[in-house]
Amino acid sequence: MSLALDLPRNGQVRGACPHDCPDTCALVTTVADGVATRVQGNADHLHTGGVLCTKVSRYVERSYHAERLLQPLRRVGPKGSGRFEPVGWDEALDDIAARLSAIAARAPEAILPYSYAGTMGLVQGESIAARFFHALGASLLDRTICASAGAEGLTQTLGGKVGMKVEFFAEAKLILVWGGNAIASSLHFWRYAQEAKRRGARLVCIDPRRTETADKCHEHIALRPGTDAALALALMHELIVHDWLDHDYLREHTLGWEQLRERALQWPPARAAEVCGVPQEQIERLARDYGACRSGGEGGSAAIRLNYGMQRTRGGGNAVRAVASLPALIGAWRHRAGGMLLSSSGQFPVQRAALQRPDLLAGRRPRTVNMSTIGDALLHPGDAAFGPRIEAVVVYNSNPVAVAPESAKVVQGFAREDLFTVVLEQFQTDTADHADYVLPATTQLEHWDIHPSYGHTDVLLNRPAIAPLGQARPNTAIFRALAARMGLIDPCLQDDDETLSRQAFGDAVDFDALLRDGFATLALPDAPFAQGNFPSPSGRCEFFSARLAAQGLDGLPDHLPNYEAIGSSADYPLAMISPPARNFLNSSFVNVTSLRAIEGEQLLEIHPVDAAARGIADGSTVRVFNGRGSYRCRAEVSTRAREGVVNGLGIWWRKLGLDGRNVNELTSQRLTDLGRAPTFYDCLVEVEADSAAVAR
Ligand code: SF4
Repeated sequence: MSLALDLPRNGQVRGACPHDCPDTCALVTTVADGVATRVQGNADHLHTGGVLCTKVSRYVERSYHAERLLQPLRRVGPKGSGRFEPVGWDEALDDIAARLSAIAARAPEAILPYSYAGTMGLVQGESIAARFFHALGASLLDRTICASAGAEGLTQTLGGKVGMKVEFFAEAKLILVWGGNAIASSLHFWRYAQEAKRRGARLVCIDPRRTETADKCHEHIALRPGTDAALALALMHELIVHDWLDHDYLREHTLGWEQLRERALQWPPARAAEVCGVPQEQIERLARDYGACRSGGEGGSAAIRLNYGMQRTRGGGNAVRAVASLPALIGAWRHRAGGMLLSSSGQFPVQRAALQRPDLLAGRRPRTVNMSTIGDALLHPGDAAFGPRIEAVVVYNSNPVAVAPESAKVVQGFAREDLFTVVLEQFQTDTADHADYVLPATTQLEHWDIHPSYGHTDVLLNRPAIAPLGQARPNTAIFRALAARMGLIDPCLQDDDETLSRQAFGDAVDFDALLRDGFATLALPDAPFAQGNFPSPSGRCEFFSARLAAQGLDGLPDHLPNYEAIGSSADYPLAMISPPARNFLNSSFVNVTSLRAIEGEQLLEIHPVDAAARGIADGSTVRVFNGRGSYRCRAEVSTRAREGVVNGLGIWWRKLGLDGRNVNELTSQRLTDLGRAPTFYDCLVEVEADSAAVAR
C-alpha cells in the first residue's frame, strides 16, 4: 500500500516531535489553506497528554521563520564568512556529485558524513544517507557526542539501553532525579513525577546545579561534577552495613555481588562526602530512604530517572554502571514502579540493517572517525594509522561548529580552504557558514518520518502536514539525487520515504495502527526484570562485566576522578558544566526570536561567593577562560551555581554570542572511560570581570 496521500488543504495532521528529547511527543498540526497554523500535543497519546514544551509549541514560528533556507547556496566568500550566492538544484547537485566522485575514486574514506540528532527520525536520519555513504565506502562516523558513555554503562550492566516504563514513575514512593533538569529536558516524565508527589512520593534531585527541577524536589544533593559514582558506591555501602538488601534478588538475578560488595565497602559516606562535596548526613539519609524501599520494605518502590548530564565526565560510563547497579541491591526491579530509566531506546525493534544496508559496503571496512574529536580529525594530515586526510564532509542533522568540543580546533578544521563541505540545513548555522554548498532541508512539518523514543516505548509516525517550503527537500531526496548522479545503482538508494517508513520496523510494529493513530505502543511487560531476564550475556544484572575485564578494564564500577578535578589547577580553580538553556535544545531553537528573547544573552551562573572573590557583579560581562580558549558572556550571580562550579548555559550559536564564541571554546576533546564520548562537564576554568565590558 502506498502512503502517497495528498496533503490536506485544511484539517489536522498527526506527527511526531523530531527533537533530541526523551519525550518524543505526538503532534497535531492544524492546516488551513495549505498553511500550518498551529502545532499542538496529541491529547490521545498517553505520554504527550496534549502538552508540548514551550520550544515546540513555537514550531510554526520556526518552520516559517524569515531566515529559513529556501534555496541552494554556493559559497562566494572565504570559508566561514557566510557569503553565498543562490544556485539551482541541478547545478549544485551536479557539482557536488562530481567533486565527491573524484575523491571517492581515489580515497573514499577521505569523505566523512557528520550527523546526529538534529532529527531523531529514522528516515531523515540514517536511512538513504547511510546507504549512500556505505555504497561509496566513505568513512564511518562514531556517533558519540551525547549519550554513548551512558549507553555503554547500561549495556555493560543491564545488557542494553533498557529500563522501567516511564508511566510507572507515577506510582513510585521515592524518585531520584539524577543528572538532569527534567522540567527543561524531560517535561513529560516530570508530569509523572508530579503525580507521584501528589500521592505522597519523596523526590530527590542529584545535580551540581540547583535547577528548576531541584527547586520542586523535597531535597537537592548538589554534588561536584563527576562524583556520581562515589555517591552511588556510598549508598551501596550503607545498604550493605545496614542490611537493607534483597538477598534473594541478589542471589538469583545478579552477577558479581561479592566483588561489588568488597568495592562498595571501601566507600563509607564520610569518604564520599569528601569527594562529592556534600554533607555526610545527606548521603546517609538518602541511603536510609532508598533502603526503606527494599523489596518488602515499608517505603514502597524506588525509581531512579537518570539523565545524560552526569555521564559527561571522564568516569561517566562507570558512574552510569554504579547507578544502574543500585536497583538490584534492593530488589527494586520486582515492582513496575521500581528500577531505573536512562534510555528505553534498546527496547525498540528497529530494523537497522534493513534501513542502513551495511551490505552495500561489499566487504570494505572503512575507518571510523569519532564525531567528538572532529576538531583533531579535520586537522589531521593523514598517515598510516589515521588513514587519508579528510577531504570532504557532508553535514546533516548537526551543527558541529557550535556543539563539538574545543571549538578553536573545530573552527580551524572547517575553515580549511581545501576541505569540501556540504551542509544540509534548515537555517544558516555556524556550520552552514563554513560550507561550500548549503542545501535547504525540510522541517518535520514537511516530510515523512518514523520515530522510536528513548524516554517511552511508543513508535510514532510523522506525516507531512504541508508541502516543502520554497525549494527545500527532505534529506532523503537529496541523497537519492546525489546517488543517481554518482552512478550508484543499487535500487535501494531510490526507495521512497513511505517505503523507508515501513522498513524501519518491518512487521514488528502495526503500521496500520500508526497510520490510524499516529502512534503504536510496544507490547512489553510492566516489570521487565522482576524475574531477572536482563538482556546481558548472563541474563543477570552484571555488577561485574567480564566483557570489560576482557578488554583490560575494571570489571566493576568505580569512581574515576575527573581529568580536570576541582583543586587540581591553580590557574583554573572553577569547574564548569554546560547544561542547556531552558528554551534551547542543544543548538536548535537558538535562532527562534521569541525563545531567544526569553533567554536574553549567553549566561554564566556563578555563586555569590565566587563572584565576590572576583569582583563580578550580577549582569556584568565576564570573560570565561582556560588553556583552550575564552568566551565572553553575561554573569548571573546566583545560587543556582554551587560554590566552586559555574554553569555556562548552552548551546548558543557562536555568531549570536557576545564575542562570536560559545561555551565549547573551553571544553576539551578528551573522552570518557567507556563509550568514547566527550567530557563536556569535565572542564576547569577561571572567570574574570571583563575589562572591555559592554554595559547592559
Ligand atoms: S522537545 Fe521534548 S517535550 Fe518538547 S515537544 Fe519535543 S518531545 Fe515533547
